[in-house]
Amino acid sequence: MSCVAVVCVGLFLTGCGSVPLTGRKQMLLVSDQEVYEAGLTQYKEYMAQSELSTDAKTTAMVKSVGQKLAEATEKYLRANGFESDIENLKWEFNLVKNNEVNAFCLPGGKIVVYEGLFAIAQNEAELAVVLGHEIGHAVAKHSNERMSQQILTQYGAAILSQALSQKSAAVQGVAVNVFGLGAKVGMMLPYSRKHEYEADYMGIVFMEIAGYDSQSALDFWTKMSAGGGNASDFLSTHPSDTKRIAQIKSRMPEAKKLASQY
Ligand SMILES: [Zn+2]
Repeated sequence: MSCVAVVCVGLFLTGCGSVPLTGRKQMLLVSDQEVYEAGLTQYKEYMAQSELSTDAKTTAMVKSVGQKLAEATEKYLRANGFESDIENLKWEFNLVKNNEVNAFCLPGGKIVVYEGLFAIAQNEAELAVVLGHEIGHAVAKHSNERMSQQILTQYGAAILSQALSQKSAAVQGVAVNVFGLGAKVGMMLPYSRKHEYEADYMGIVFMEIAGYDSQSALDFWTKMSAGGGNASDFLSTHPSDTKRIAQIKSRMPEAKKLASQY
């Protein structure tokens, strides 16, 4: 269903949105508040089952790089008419004990990094590549978009005429599918290539605004592609190949130019 058709129905709380930075039109059937609450529930469950890292130095690095990127992101959003999106970004950056190469961001800016990521990310800028990418998914509301697609697939037009309370139950139901944390801790459903490339682009803009050189994105993803034998969750949900690297490279001048205005 196209965005236009959805808007015409007129019963949704929200309908269409456009992605900050890229301007891509997207179908958003769930309110930001509902997505935020669903993400928060999953986040609390995840954190209750996880152990925080005892590596004070690396934990401090995750928090400080995360904070710099969060500030850069908010600066961009504020300057471009997305102030209302900032209300639902309550950033938290955690480093957890786990040797897998992984990191994820739940709606609302709840970011989790696994200790194992540092086998690949070897400096602040390379960490910023991953955090910027995850922040990109959150700011672009990719979870909302996926939840919206699932609601439409599972419930079809019937959901349009249902009361808000019934819709909320549907939202909770698809949130578990989309975030996937219940099935396997920290394992998100893979995003589409379109979402991946969009998050890559947004990530390099945010890292440039934060003062990092986006060249590190090429270094990081090249290392990821070389480590192909390591079948980590992050690698399986973030296939790193020549196409991805070429895509980042081609958009880097544009990202640098845009970031230089901030
Ligand atoms: Zn991603």
